[in-house]
Amino acid sequence: MSTTASNDGSAAAGPTPNGLGLTFGLLGDEWTLLLLRVALSGGTKYSDFRERLPISHAVLSGRLERLVTEGLLERHVYQQRPERSEYILTPKGSATWPLLLAIWTWERRWVTSHSYATPPITHLSCGNEMSPRYCCQECGAAATGDTVELGWGPAGSWERSTPGAHTRRRATRTGAAVDTAFYPDTMTVFGNRWSAVIVAAAFAGVRRFRDFELFLGPPPIVLSERLTAMCDREIFEQVQLAERPDWSEYQLTRKGSDLFPVLGIVVDWSERWYSDDEGSVLTRTHTVCGQEFRGVLVCDHCQEVVRGEAIDLSGA
Ligand SMILES: [Zn+2]
Ligand SMILES: [Zn+2]
Repeated sequence: MSTTASNDGSAAAGPTPNGLGLTFGLLGDEWTLLLLRVALSGGTKYSDFRERLPISHAVLSGRLERLVTEGLLERHVYQQRPERSEYILTPKGSATWPLLLAIWTWERRWVTSHSYATPPITHLSCGNEMSPRYCCQECGAAATGDTVELGWGPAGSWERSTPGAHTRRRATRTGAAVDTAFYPDTMTVFGNRWSAVIVAAAFAGVRRFRDFELFLGPPPIVLSERLTAMCDREIFEQVQLAERPDWSEYQLTRKGSDLFPVLGIVVDWSERWYSDDEGSVLTRTHTVCGQEFRGVLVCDHCQEVVRGEAIDLSGA
């Protein structure tokens, strides 16, 4: 991958984020994912969200507004005095279901203690509870970090794929769901604007601290803190190189590598909903079949491609 280094970690007047940067900034937020879960299970009213989640009025209003602005929810006023609204998923919002399925599947596989259970997912086509697999749409083979080759498309660069300053949250502790930590492992990767791109960079082959710093441009103290947090969660491991004892690399563990579907689905979603005249952010090639890669979720029981209408999320 060609790289452009950012020399200003604060990104105060950084470049315009591309679709992937916007997506990381939008979906890399635990409350947003939890609101989408409620919406996908049929919740529409303000009170539905309040009843399901220990969320403050300020945070809930802010996140709903963001989801409306970004076109994932549509606000309908159904009562005038006092004014009451419901929030209806748009096609763009509904299309986030594969991301939630992938997160739940990963959490079930790798995280043993949950403060918030992941719902069982029934595939209506075959009637089985499934753990969907992420596969190549062309050849049907499983997609892994090793078999999908990444390159930059016309809209791609490291700095534009990193969420911009406007999506920066003031601090991880204020107003963020980090405190409630429903999915602490997922959120170690997704709840911070740098972490998801660090993992994405690792899938693109970046290993060394200085390369993460050079390509992504985070302040070193932030990079160090994020890598340490992800090592604590066993998503990365720090490996000392035998040939250069003074060098170490950050390598994805099996648990970390298994995040590939989650990241892949984020890319799928962003290409579908944020692609513009510039063209794609990434080129992805499935080395198994040599075709351009696009991911689908496949039921592990009946091997059928899972469609949105063939899953029941009413209990989610
Ligand atoms: Zn393929
Ligand atoms: Zn099935």
